Amino acid sequence: MPELPEVETVVRSLQPIVTGCRIQDFTCLWPRTLDDFSTTDFINHIKAQTIRAIHRRGKYILLDLDSGHILVHLRMTGKLIFSAVLPSQNPHIRAWFTLEGEQYLYFEDTRKFGRITFRSSLGELDSKLGPEPLSDKFTPELLADILAGTSRQIKPLLLDQSVIAGLGNIYCDEVLWHAAINPRAPGAGISVRKVAVLHSAIVTILTEAIEFQGTTIRDFGFQGERTGNYSSRLQVFGRTGQPCPRCNTAIVKLTVAQRGTHICPHCQKM
Ligand SMILES: [Zn+2]
Repeated sequence: MPELPEVETVVRSLQPIVTGCRIQDFTCLWPRTLDDFSTTDFINHIKAQTIRAIHRRGKYILLDLDSGHILVHLRMTGKLIFSAVLPSQNPHIRAWFTLEGEQYLYFEDTRKFGRITFRSSLGELDSKLGPEPLSDKFTPELLADILAGTSRQIKPLLLDQSVIAGLGNIYCDEVLWHAAINPRAPGAGISVRKVAVLHSAIVTILTEAIEFQGTTIRDFGFQGERTGNYSSRLQVFGRTGQPCPRCNTAIVKLTVAQRGTHICPHCQKM
C-alpha cells in the first residue's frame, strides 16, 4: 500500500507534466471510484478548470484547481498516470481525466479501493490528519507530547493518520526497528531518549525512501512504468527469518493492530 514516500514519488513524477493542464472532461467506469459524487456532479466541479499545482498531504494526492481541489487516495493498488494515449487493453483503468491537447490522466486500480473526490477547500482534510512528519512542525518535542499522553501501543498510534500523517505498515516497522522500540510498547512508556531516536528515524527513513522513489513490494508503480527502489534498503519489513542487521537474531513476524509486524525480538524487547 502506498505510504508517504510512494505518494510523494507519484506527485513529483506528475508535477512537471500536469501542472498548467486544463481539464476537458472526466470519465468514470467504476462509479465507486468517486467517493461521494455522481460523475455528473464531479464533472460540473472540475470541468474547464486548470490544474494549478499538485502536492501531497498524508497519503492523499491533491490537485489544486482554479477553484477547489481534486483529492486522490491510492489505497492498495491505485496508480495515477499521465499519458498521450489511453491504454485500451488495460482492464484495470477505473477513470480518467481528459486534458486539453488529447492527453489523459488515468486512474488504474486493480483492487478498486482507490478513491477520487472533490473539495472546495482543504480545511476538512487538514483537520482530520495529524502533522506532516517532514514538516518543520514535527519536532522531537511534538512527538514526545503525542506519546506522553497515551497508553495506546506505539504501532497503532503511528499508523493512525490523525496522529501523524503518512506512515503505513512498512515504514512503521522500519522506524520502530531503528529506534529499537517494541511495537506493542505503550506510548507513554517510551523513554525521552528513545522518543528522540524515533523522531530522527521517522525523518531520516522517510527522506531516504523518497530519494529512492519509494518501496515496491508488489503493486506500487508510477509514471513511465517505474517502480520504487527502497525495497533493498528495508531492514526488517518482509525479512522474516533473516538475520537482524544489528545483532543477527532472526527477524520474526507478529500481528500487532491486525497488521503483519516485523521485529527483531532481541533489539525490540518489551
Ligand atoms: Zn536485532
